[in-house]
Amino acid sequence: MQHGKRATYANHGCRCKLCTAAQSANVWARRQVKAWKAPLRVEGVQEAITDTPIFIPPSVIMRALERKEQSIKIEAMEILWHEAKKNGGDLAELTQP
Ligand SMILES: [Zn+2]
Repeated sequence: MQHGKRATYANHGCRCKLCTAAQSANVWARRQVKAWKAPLRVEGVQEAITDTPIFIPPSVIMRALERKEQSIKIEAMEILWHEAKKNGGDLAELTQP
């Protein structure tokens, strides 16, 4: 059981500070991401070569990123939540006037 994970909160019922924070961040992120309709803009994606070696063209990496777009957006929102809390800030400060 790993603390600080939403899965631990949901699947194991842990209510420690870290797991509760992970859950709160996810609830907030899922709510906020509904207002993030613009597609992710990712530039400068490079090809990759595994040690095998297998060549992965940038277009394939882009397709993989597009498939994961929603979870990347939620993850980004969760990071914002944690950083705002860490700095003792108010989540309302994340909203532009
Ligand atoms: Zn926990």
